[in-house]
Amino acid sequence: MVKAVFPGSFDPPTYGHLNIIERARSIFEEVYVVVAVNRDKNHLFTPEERCALLRELLAEYPNVAVQLCDTLIVDFARNHGCKVLVRGVRSVPDFSYEFELSIMNKGLNPAIETILIPTDPKYFVLRSSAIKELASFDGNLSGMVPPNVAAAIKKKMNEINMTT
Ligand code: ADP
Repeated sequence: MVKAVFPGSFDPPTYGHLNIIERARSIFEEVYVVVAVNRDKNHLFTPEERCALLRELLAEYPNVAVQLCDTLIVDFARNHGCKVLVRGVRSVPDFSYEFELSIMNKGLNPAIETILIPTDPKYFVLRSSAIKELASFDGNLSGMVPPNVAAAIKKKMNEINMTT
């Protein structure tokens, strides 16, 4: 039984992420979608909020679990019996970044393999940073993020506007 981890920031989760998760869960017996607590980034949602959104979206998938992780991803994988790290790639720059990350993770734990899944062409322009920018101008997010995520972004933007 091969278990996989799909780590990311998911700030916010998009249809691009969901597509990778659906494909990964059809290959691997179990997939842990892991919200990596990354303190460097300027996030819109807290890690707990991102986990809650993902749990709503993935509730119907019995072989997908959502978890928070504030350790190295390779350590999370080892502790949960996962041999594979799944990552998505949209473009050549994504590939260069993911390739270097995979080499680094291989150095940290040679027993864990990274598998890259190329984006579905429908989603190759979707990135969380662009979605946040679009949301700040009240742009239409349907087609990019699921309705629960669009509603959470709208609410968050209103909160931000009220405090500034
Ligand atoms: P990180 O901050 O770790 O890059 P992200 O949440 O931005 O986390 O992305 C998590 C993973 O999902 C990455 O491997 C990223 O390349 C992939 N990904 C993000 N958007 C898409 C998309 N539209 N299609 C395919 N893969 C994607």
